[in-house]
Amino acid sequence: MHEMGIVLHLAETLNETAKEQRLTRIGSVTLQVGEVSGIMTDYFIDCWNYFKPRHPVLADSELRLETIPAVTWCDGCGRTYETVKYGRECPYCKSGETWLLSGNECIIKEIEAESEDGEEGESSFETEDLN
Ligand SMILES: [Zn+2]
Repeated sequence: MHEMGIVLHLAETLNETAKEQRLTRIGSVTLQVGEVSGIMTDYFIDCWNYFKPRHPVLADSELRLETIPAVTWCDGCGRTYETVKYGRECPYCKSGETWLLSGNECIIKEIEAESEDGEEGESSFETEDLN
């Protein structure tokens, strides 16, 4: 139930942001999801659709997901490579001393919202990794 937990946290975070910034309606939320974060996007959207009617500020919102490619850094030769294609072993020097650089995140990138004074626009938001 990984996705459900993240969606719950996301909904809470958005509710708090809406309160702080006096937003009346959130139009869209763009989320960056890492390729190897383990999040199933279809299921994630199902969870989102289940939760959003419970929060008036989110009721009409649209969830957009962007995938962040997974990249691994190799300590052996100092190069980077595609994680999904090659796994943990460096394709250049066959070293196993490798570290995931990106691809495990789940980050709110931006929110489009309307505020109490009727202004529409992008809401400023401090980037937070929900994972
Ligand atoms: Zn290497």
